[in-house]
Amino acid sequence: MTKVSIIVPCYNEEKNIFPFFELCKNTLNPNFEYEYIFVNDGSKDNTFLNIKKLIKDNNSDNIIGINFSRNFGKESAILAGIKNSTGDLISLIDADLQQHPKYINQMVEYLSLNEETDIVACYQNRRKEGKILSSFKSMFYNLINKMSSTKFEKNASDFRTFRRQVAEALVDLDEYHRFSKGLFAWVGFEAHYMPYEVEERLHGKTSWSFSSLTKYAIEGFVGFSTVPLRIATLLGIFTSIASLIYMISIIIKKLVIGIDVAGYATIVSLILLLSGIQLISMGIIGEYLARTYMETKKRPHYIIKNKIETDNK
Ligand code: UDP
Ligand code: MG
Repeated sequence: MTKVSIIVPCYNEEKNIFPFFELCKNTLNPNFEYEYIFVNDGSKDNTFLNIKKLIKDNNSDNIIGINFSRNFGKESAILAGIKNSTGDLISLIDADLQQHPKYINQMVEYLSLNEETDIVACYQNRRKEGKILSSFKSMFYNLINKMSSTKFEKNASDFRTFRRQVAEALVDLDEYHRFSKGLFAWVGFEAHYMPYEVEERLHGKTSWSFSSLTKYAIEGFVGFSTVPLRIATLLGIFTSIASLIYMISIIIKKLVIGIDVAGYATIVSLILLLSGIQLISMGIIGEYLARTYMETKKRPHYIIKNKIETDNK
């Protein structure tokens, strides 16, 4: 029987663990075998205690609980889940019930019927969020698709199901800064995109703020494109040429026409403009340098404090 690993990253989801599991049990197609991997990503509430309880109460099911030593982020939780999974198919799903497990049935069914497809990814057909935020997100996709040779699918989420060989390819990418949308696009394989209706969060609140989303977007740009570095070069070339032309025109004015150019405002604004461009360029280089520095440290993506599982494992 085909085995499906359900990977659930959990950060402060104490109230969602039980309803999530119950919904899965009631929804998932019984013709497949399931393995649940709950990764507690350093929650500050009783998430792990509830995972423990869940494992105790459902000993006949196949459940693993992984407890991180601190919060390492969703990307690391997903990686730990994948590394500890044994299924033929792997599904990533959030613990907050925003993503209904009925779509896992659809994704799994699609993969069983279409041998050529390796990944089925869900995308939100209608985003339930503010106009400003969704237009920023759309701008992000347009821009990164222009700047990166990796093709990013618009609105595709982490809610996806894929075959074991995709999981192995993902694990092989050992980079510290993991931008999973990009990693999925980078490894390639045959992907199918499926619309889904996002639900409201059952309990708790989202861990994304506008600033963390901005940081995440920068991660995407720096991780999957070196075009920003070239922008610095281009800006430099452009301003050098412009200032050369300006210099020549000043010399000609002075020599041929004989007027001194009154220059205070010009000089001040030019200095400000050029220092601005220089600082931006240095900042861009700094973003890449910082990541290179972090990557050279070869730190682990996460630290597991303890791992528990049902007897059925
Ligand atoms: N999550 C995690 N580590 C984090 C932040 C979030 O494992 O540092 C989990 C969280 O518990 C949830 C999923 O990632 O299962 C998605 O998070 P959230 O609901 O906050 O994101 P949103 O749905 O708003 O995009
Ligand atoms: Mg959510």
